[in-house]
Amino acid sequence: MSWEPVIGLEVHVQMRTERKLFCGNQVVFGDEPNSHVCPVCLGLPGALPTTNPEAVKLAVRTALALDCTIHLTSVWERKNYFYPDLPKGYQITQFEMPLATDGVVIYDGPEGEGLVRIRRAHMEEDAGKSIHDRIPRGTVVDLNRAGTPLVEIVTEPDLCSPADARAFLVALKHILEYADVSDCNMEEGSLRVDANVSLRSVGASELGAKTEIKNVNSFSGVERALEIEIARQAEVLDHGGTVDQETLLWDDHMGQLRSMRSKEDSHDYRYFPDPDLPPLVLEPSLVEVTRQCLPELPRLRRDRFIQDYGLSSYDAGVLTHTVASANYFEAVVGASAEAKSAANWVMGPLQALMNERGEDLETFRVRARALAELIELVTDGTVSDTAAKKVLAIVAEDGGSPRAVIEEQGLAQVRDDVQLEQWVQAVIEAQPDEVSRYQGGEKRLIGFLVGQVMRRSSGTADPRRVNAILTKELI
Ligand code: ADP
Ligand code: MG
Repeated sequence: MSWEPVIGLEVHVQMRTERKLFCGNQVVFGDEPNSHVCPVCLGLPGALPTTNPEAVKLAVRTALALDCTIHLTSVWERKNYFYPDLPKGYQITQFEMPLATDGVVIYDGPEGEGLVRIRRAHMEEDAGKSIHDRIPRGTVVDLNRAGTPLVEIVTEPDLCSPADARAFLVALKHILEYADVSDCNMEEGSLRVDANVSLRSVGASELGAKTEIKNVNSFSGVERALEIEIARQAEVLDHGGTVDQETLLWDDHMGQLRSMRSKEDSHDYRYFPDPDLPPLVLEPSLVEVTRQCLPELPRLRRDRFIQDYGLSSYDAGVLTHTVASANYFEAVVGASAEAKSAANWVMGPLQALMNERGEDLETFRVRARALAELIELVTDGTVSDTAAKKVLAIVAEDGGSPRAVIEEQGLAQVRDDVQLEQWVQAVIEAQPDEVSRYQGGEKRLIGFLVGQVMRRSSGTADPRRVNAILTKELI
């Protein structure tokens, strides 16, 4: 029997707000445990939540970036369960009436462009953290994270392989980064994925029983966990068994799945509207303004780079990898550099230098205008390519303008024939052996002789003119 996987994902994204969703505590990762807590997020009696408008704005922005329909009225509900890191005994979330529904994400999958429908995107608060490795044989609870604003993005079961799921997540993260709604830091748990998977016989339209994999904190982990779970389910089905609906925990270290609990149904959570919070009602203008302020999203920007600048799809993809690099590139072009050279300089020497210096565009001292100036000086022959890279490194270290650095350091290309002739004559005198071998027919020695002239000129001679003069002199 051959089976095909069906995969749907639930992605929790932490909004990059300064404060928690229902109280004024700061959202900080890695601080002293339980140092950002108050009666509201501790669930003390009588404490009342109030909704943080900043979080709502970011959630609306998130949903719009995913092309969702925003509902002007959504309802806060309590999802009731017990866990030590959930002090109130319920999580405030949205259930029957979520903030947004019916979105779509297009991504580059292993078999070309793929499309995933977004079923819903709703707001909710995060729980605290249970820490199992802090004291021996005990668990401690840190509630700093409790009440952090999240958006949960739920896809339709539109993905058909682990590699596809991963490609979708890459595209989703890219959109969230462009929309600037979350730091998307997976190590710190700002983006967490639950993966649902079932198998069905190839071509069948009905869905099989699914399992849900939790606790995956990397995209490669999602892919691996899904592969393992698909193999397990296929084995069960091949032997005529049935897949139990259950929740599995991914152990990244061991590369193993463990059964966590048999899957609960939503009615087990006894959802009901939170009596402490009025429904979330949005002004239509807030949605419209947010929509208008949404930046150009990654695929559109990449396509525009191909269209407007005549870049290859690969180059456009590299340059639009981050908003910062796309902006930088466009600023270089805006400062009058030719697009293809700008792309080559940004992706090549500039990137290499930043890597070497352990910098990124935020700290890098070579601003777009300076790079454009340098490109112009290379194009008009003022400096050689090699010297230009030196200039780049100097500007990165000390700042300043490329033109000034070239002057100060004498890095301009020498194209004055009188000067070039002098260097050429000196080399001809100094290398009689090579000269006579060249004249005897070893034409490849021209490279060596040009190199000698370059050395004499400390790299400033124009190599093409040197070549021409040498060839003429040695006939
Ligand atoms: P639950 O009630 O168990 O949370 P939902 O219907 O709400 O299930 O769906 C949760 C996620 O699981 C969604 O992303 C959805 O696309 C996915 N999903 C639902 N049914 C299946 C299935 N049979 N196989 C794979 N994924 C599924
Ligand atoms: Mg669910």
